[in-house]
Amino acid sequence: MPEYVNSARATFGRFTAERAGNILTITVRAFFSFPNTDQSRLGMPNLEWAGAERDEFRTAVLERIPAFWNEKWRFRRGLEIVSPFFVIEPVEDGQQHIDFVCNKGTGPSGIRAAEIPPKLNLFEFDNDSVGSRSASSLSADRAILAPSLSILSNAVASNSNVSVTRGDPWTVTASSAAELNNLAQVLVNIQSHDGNRYKDPSPVLYIEATSGARDKADKMTRAVLDHLRRQGVTTYPIFVSAVKTRAKAKWPWTPHKPTGTVTVRHQETGDYIDKRLWQNPYTVAIHEFGHCMGLPDEYMASYGGGLGTALHEDWRRLCGEAHVPANPAADNNFCKSIMSYGCITSACHYVYAWDALRQITGGEAWEIVRGTETDT
Ligand SMILES: [Zn+2]
Repeated sequence: MPEYVNSARATFGRFTAERAGNILTITVRAFFSFPNTDQSRLGMPNLEWAGAERDEFRTAVLERIPAFWNEKWRFRRGLEIVSPFFVIEPVEDGQQHIDFVCNKGTGPSGIRAAEIPPKLNLFEFDNDSVGSRSASSLSADRAILAPSLSILSNAVASNSNVSVTRGDPWTVTASSAAELNNLAQVLVNIQSHDGNRYKDPSPVLYIEATSGARDKADKMTRAVLDHLRRQGVTTYPIFVSAVKTRAKAKWPWTPHKPTGTVTVRHQETGDYIDKRLWQNPYTVAIHEFGHCMGLPDEYMASYGGGLGTALHEDWRRLCGEAHVPANPAADNNFCKSIMSYGCITSACHYVYAWDALRQITGGEAWEIVRGTETDT
């Protein structure tokens, strides 16, 4: 199968291209890895992928990314029309164009172009900070979030101070247990909504305690976290914070207090973690696949970005040769393009597939024409 290498010879943007009749197949060979996520900073155990979760995530990558990019634009020469189809092919280490590093838990997806092979970091749940969201996409998500948020707010409010009792281990005090069970039920309902763990955006739950002794604050927060876990709260995003305050003067006759207080609160609206990795029309994994084809980010003030200027210049040169406008770098304004923060493809996103077809067909003049993309 012919190997396509962009003329910038960048590590990103490599794939194989094969034409059969009116189909152009673009294949990116990917080596998948599924590292555990170290959460020691949060005082929590490592997040580890279960086998079924791994398979589910890999299947989503293999199916949904190509489904988004296939046939949105096509290539025409006279009466001939060729449609591009995309394949992510899982391969053994050493055979890949790119590493797909699939991280458990929540974090920011992104690319590391400097490494060889280049790395695409994906997270189970993408960390979608407010700063990278357009106002319209935020308000749409707030509307979706509102019902579960109001239920959550009530349940959290009656648990803002949870009493815990000293012991080995510390436990939730009986008087606090009923309210905490009620909160657990709300969290379970949100995390299992529609049976789809990628669907609901969920405000993070914070479990916090302070103590003069770090160890004690840890044990207190752990009591509440373990209580929720036993009630079935397994995938809901929870951050635990055990803060050591300035140590008080230790008097040998001061008895250990038999109870302590753990505070529970939730993230405010518009500042949550987006769990809907595959439901959101803008899906970061789909955007990142654009980089696999060599496309630059369009939300930056300039095309500098992580892929390097040479590749961006190569892309703009190809846009010129294909006679399609290159989307502008949006000067930090987000727009509806998939390479910014939207879900629309443009002809300029298909110039690498177009260039591969041109090479396969001996330099013939193809035109990029609209396929199934309906939006502009
Ligand atoms: Zn990007």
